[in-house]
Amino acid sequence: MEARGSQIVEDMREAPLLDVLRALQSDAGHLARESLESLSRSKLISLDRIYGIAASYPEFRFDDEEEGRRPPREEAPLPAFATVAEGEVHRRMLAPGPLTSRYGKEATSLGRYRELGGMSAIARIEDGMKPEQVLSEVLLGDLTRRHGTWQRVATYAWDRVIVANNQTGDPLAGQVSALLEQDPYAFAEGIYLAAYATGAREGYLFLGPRYAHLSEPLTAAAADMKLFSKIDFELEVIIGPGILVSSEDSVPLAAMHGERPVPASEGKFSEKVWSKPVLVENAGLFTVLAAVLGTRERVNNRLYQVTGDVREAGVIEAPAETTVSELIGEAGSHGRPQVLVGGLSGTFVSGDGLERPVSDYERSDNPRWRTLHVLAAEDDALEMAAAGAAYNARNLCGYCIPCRIGSVRMAELLAAPGHDLETLAETAAMLEKCGLCNVGKGAGALVRSAIEMRA
Ligand code: SF4
Repeated sequence: MEARGSQIVEDMREAPLLDVLRALQSDAGHLARESLESLSRSKLISLDRIYGIAASYPEFRFDDEEEGRRPPREEAPLPAFATVAEGEVHRRMLAPGPLTSRYGKEATSLGRYRELGGMSAIARIEDGMKPEQVLSEVLLGDLTRRHGTWQRVATYAWDRVIVANNQTGDPLAGQVSALLEQDPYAFAEGIYLAAYATGAREGYLFLGPRYAHLSEPLTAAAADMKLFSKIDFELEVIIGPGILVSSEDSVPLAAMHGERPVPASEGKFSEKVWSKPVLVENAGLFTVLAAVLGTRERVNNRLYQVTGDVREAGVIEAPAETTVSELIGEAGSHGRPQVLVGGLSGTFVSGDGLERPVSDYERSDNPRWRTLHVLAAEDDALEMAAAGAAYNARNLCGYCIPCRIGSVRMAELLAAPGHDLETLAETAAMLEKCGLCNVGKGAGALVRSAIEMRA
């Protein structure tokens, strides 16, 4: 067994660390210590560090002896309000638009995609559209907040990389995954357009483990797109770590560098991966890109998910400026309720806050912030925050001290009888200010805004 592990390590000498770990586990059913020692020697990475990285991925198992040394990790159940979004709700389209025009129409082959109007953006390239024209339509269409990165990557003269992140982390936010499932060629067309615009030749799509079944159709769609577009670009699908903070851009980049999949301080990975300039975008952006360039119209739509006390829960395609009250009205909400915007790291809003665009509450350009849960009359925001905080305390990565301590303290304070609201508010404000990443900051906002609902 060990000889085989060493052979795998030897054969995959040049492969990324994560790929080698997966190959070892797939061969032996777990990560044997001897194999990891070989890996440590081969990659000149300390054994402790390899264990630290592998232990961050729930998918890896170790030798019995090592497994027994893992700290016991009780699974915190998902709060009830988050479980309502699982499964079918992600796929139920309440208000479609240009971005979702093929939703539910079995656009899962290139022929069918063409029949339904796909490939019209790639056709413009065949008609002579230049990369700089594609880039200027992306920038003028205001499709992304990362104008500078697109321009910077496009002007480099050497290898460039595109990373599409479809790890929302929050189970409430499955709307983009549902779109990738329904319209895989639109994503493929979009990322090939981005490759043409920027000159990137390699790209990686990170999927959360919950959506691993999309790997095959998306890989097939990308292969067809390469064949028919003649754009020199290769896309690889990677199953990411599937942790609550996976929506942070730096998490896939850390995984690609063979580091612990945790958020990084600003700037650590922002410009390069494997010394190559990198553009990271949420996967849904590429579908928007295909729709915009294909229709030649301004389509600045996003997918929102509405659950809770509404006539019908599901997904709504609407412009980026749509307000909370417009979205919950579309789903059949009555009156002026309280709404949790942004899921497990979200903000409770009510009153005038409902008239603000959802984008005002987004902490980054990621669908995890575009989930709306409408509270019923009998729901109590603080009780919901307590359930969310208990889940967050177990599932946030624990990389930075304010959140490692603050998220646990908040969960304890909320579980104690008779809440000490003053200490709770101070702890939440500290986390919102000092947490390293948006997900941790949002965990503070969840509790802070629930306290404000009581005021
Ligand atoms: S804020 Fe929380 S989730 Fe973010 S890096 Fe720090 S510990 Fe991890």
